[in-house]
Amino acid sequence: MADATPFAARIGAIEISATAQVASAADQLRRQGMDVVDLGVGEPDFPTPEHIKQAAVRAIEQNFTRYTPTGGIPELKAAVCQRHAADFGTRYAPEECIVSVGGKHVIFNLTQVLLGPGDEVVISVPYWVTYRDVVEYAGGRCVFVDGVAGIASALSPRTKMVIVNSPCNPSGAVVEREEFERILHLTAPRGIWLLTDESYCRFVYDGEPFSIASAEGAHDTVLVSGSVSKTYAMTGWRIGFGLAPAPVVAAMVKLQSHTTTNPTSVAQMAALEALRGPQDSVAVMLAEYRRRRDFIVEKLRAMPGVSIDTPRGAFYAYPDIRAALTRTSIPDTTEFARRLLDEQRLAVVPGSAFGTRDHIRISYAASQHQLERGMQRLNRFLTEHSQ
Ligand code: PLP
Repeated sequence: MADATPFAARIGAIEISATAQVASAADQLRRQGMDVVDLGVGEPDFPTPEHIKQAAVRAIEQNFTRYTPTGGIPELKAAVCQRHAADFGTRYAPEECIVSVGGKHVIFNLTQVLLGPGDEVVISVPYWVTYRDVVEYAGGRCVFVDGVAGIASALSPRTKMVIVNSPCNPSGAVVEREEFERILHLTAPRGIWLLTDESYCRFVYDGEPFSIASAEGAHDTVLVSGSVSKTYAMTGWRIGFGLAPAPVVAAMVKLQSHTTTNPTSVAQMAALEALRGPQDSVAVMLAEYRRRRDFIVEKLRAMPGVSIDTPRGAFYAYPDIRAALTRTSIPDTTEFARRLLDEQRLAVVPGSAFGTRDHIRISYAASQHQLERGMQRLNRFLTEHSQ
């Protein structure tokens, strides 16, 4: 006979990812034959570059289909370290690298092996949805602060980790090097982990991308989470990587050995080609995202009750729709997103998922055609409901 509360307390402490919820609602409508424009999902619409796909085909043909070392094949770990060194001037050794099942898995592993009950993790708002849940799943406590400028005043003797995501999902904001270094100078001397989520590190529209891991004094306390998902349009392959002090990597490998065993063998060969092979596809995608960003920002600024700071990286627009909520008498962004999907078949993610009240997140990783249709639908919705 099932208990009235059959689940472990820790699973009750977290929510299903809001972005996954939006994706599933959009998918359900699509399966009913509706014409949905999905600007909810943060997924490049580009196919994985051909040379990367061919590497996976070759891996299958050569029967590279068995278990691999838990933390990734040595060639891939070496390629991760070399790519990071070439791009950002860091110096990591393979024993300081782990390959996991996407960047999300790296972040899950890091939080589970480093956090315990009562440990505080400082996270700036807006934040990527998953941080909150994985910290709480580990028994930690999130301390949310307004932007990265709020981090300094939130540090306490219980702070175990600070998470910074630049460029930021959802806002597209970029943390300048000087500011990032200021954060490091606060965390490193106190032995606080500084987790830098570099999922969008190659998609910066102005200025040179950098990694805080290359700064002096970073090595012992900085934790890098990286991924091939967005950079090489490889979301479904599920390969991410972590760079961290060797004992942290060893602990993550221990956890991984009891969960996923290893990242998929064939996907690792594809990621190896992505990191070692020609990098031209990245520049092509960046140029296209820049065009789409400029298009979407211009359209949004022309809409009633919508304002937006120009995103400087990643592929999300995070407009402030406070005035639009007032004009339309829609109580909050969750209801706004729900009705937008119901009435206009346009999927966006409400800002509540990222810790803010007045925003919606629009992904412009969709095709230009879909973006045009999406902007028409949003404009129609706002116009029809404005009083
Ligand atoms: N970090 C951020 C900020 C993201 O937006 C995402 C994906 O949307 C991830 C990490 C994880 O990506 P993946 O697990 O596909 O590498």
